[in-house]
Amino acid sequence: MTEELKHFVGGKYVAGKSGRFGDIYNPTTGEVSGKLPLASAAEVSDTIANSQAAFGPWSALSPQARARVMFRFRDLVERRMDDLARHISNEHGKVLSDARGSVQRGLEVVEFACGIPHQLKGEFSDNVSRGIDLYSMRQPLGVVAGITPFNFPAMVPMWMFAVAIACGNTFILKPSEKDPSCPLLLAELMMEAGAPAGVLNCLNGDKEAVDTLLTDPRVQAVSFVGSTPIAQYVYATGAAHGKRVQAMGGAKNHMIVLPDADLDQATDALIGAGYGSAGERCMAVSVAVPVGKKTADALIARLVPRVRALKIGSSLAADSEMGPLVTRQHLDKVKGYVDLGVKEGAKLLVDGRDQKLQGYENGFFMGGCLFDEVTSDMRIYREEIFGPVLSVVRTETFEDALKLPSEHEFGNGVAIFTRDGDAARDFTNRVQVGMVGVNVPIPVPLSFHTFGGWKKSAFGDTNQHGGEGVRFYTKIKTVTARWPTGIRAGAEFNIPNLK
Ligand code: NAD
Repeated sequence: MTEELKHFVGGKYVAGKSGRFGDIYNPTTGEVSGKLPLASAAEVSDTIANSQAAFGPWSALSPQARARVMFRFRDLVERRMDDLARHISNEHGKVLSDARGSVQRGLEVVEFACGIPHQLKGEFSDNVSRGIDLYSMRQPLGVVAGITPFNFPAMVPMWMFAVAIACGNTFILKPSEKDPSCPLLLAELMMEAGAPAGVLNCLNGDKEAVDTLLTDPRVQAVSFVGSTPIAQYVYATGAAHGKRVQAMGGAKNHMIVLPDADLDQATDALIGAGYGSAGERCMAVSVAVPVGKKTADALIARLVPRVRALKIGSSLAADSEMGPLVTRQHLDKVKGYVDLGVKEGAKLLVDGRDQKLQGYENGFFMGGCLFDEVTSDMRIYREEIFGPVLSVVRTETFEDALKLPSEHEFGNGVAIFTRDGDAARDFTNRVQVGMVGVNVPIPVPLSFHTFGGWKKSAFGDTNQHGGEGVRFYTKIKTVTARWPTGIRAGAEFNIPNLK
């Protein structure tokens, strides 16, 4: 039986009115599990009005009062962890332990947001001139929106709304159409935690909803995470309509393996970071770059049996290491890239295209794929595949290895595996990528630092969460104040020049 989902607006679930619906799939069975209402422009407009009405009272609360809501929300999410993770596994297809881990990473941002009173402290300069003090404060923007991708339906929304709401904004979340149940439950939990109605609205929709959010003058800022073409579009359209925009895009993350690296450790890292979540992570490692033939041969010898042995199964089975891909369309796209790699002349060492799972013949499964002898002119190297496909690009020298991620059009994450501190330090300084791991394959920064790539992996000036998140969701006001009586400056005809 397929469930008809709703929106969560004004503190309650509301049915869609547009008459347009999208299908939600269970990727393990391949069946439609739900119908999702796709909001019309008029529904988005009403939601913006609702969020705007909630902004005044919410922003007037003290930062401590807002932080207390975040503390309660944190506890509620922890209590409902299993339900949230199950929604993710059922609609996205990632295995339960991974789904739980992703909720936990989102919760870390909520924990950061619990400390918002400290983050919102302004700056104060006493007595900058006789009797004059200068201070600045950070104020919320108003109604802000977040548009999120399918691959992290809990974590990415929490990156955004936890900081935005704690700063005093009201937030409209437009989650991915593919896995909306988890974001809807998060909105419900925020209400239960004490956020007044309208502080977090969760509106489902597609391009029509996104375009309305991007063009409506009542929306002050838009945070986007998704693929690069849409990120570019969101950035350009939002900015053209006078909004503050941060838009994170796709990736092609390299892992450099130097000859002195611990190859067993490097292999473990590549298996986890390449095939975990079926490669559907913006920080997944999709390119391994061994330096030197000996390193490459030894690495390949370790990788091949491990990729063949990946335990692929239902996203809910406790022993699955890798679940299905999110939709049939995406599965076909990823398989298409494997076909293309073969045509382009790369050597397919492990072919997972024909993986079938007994009992789940209609599920969106494929096995892990491993390519050797991939070169930088191939499309399977240049483009984001977003599936369980690892490409090995062999290089001769450290400089060649450094060049690959630095010259790639994406610049989200990169890792280097080595025992040589000097080489690692040189690499981290010179590589043209936003997030770097040293013997850490997926260097996703913790919430009190910030997340963001370079080049075509991110558009806009500010990263997600941490201090940058607070800066994105607030505007600075600077006050110059003279209070003491008895000081007469007289009429000033020159530009004020405080002494
Ligand atoms: P997507 O770009 O297809 O969708 C993202 C959001 O944009 C969704 O909410 C969707 O409804 C909306 N959207 C889609 N097409 C649109 C259009 N034409 N106009 C307006 N809005 C539109 O991305 P996805 O497939 O959901 O997610 C996977 C992508 O996200 C990958 O490229 C991955 O690398 C990227 N990603 C990046 C980061 C990061 O921080 N850099 C994190 C997670 C995922």
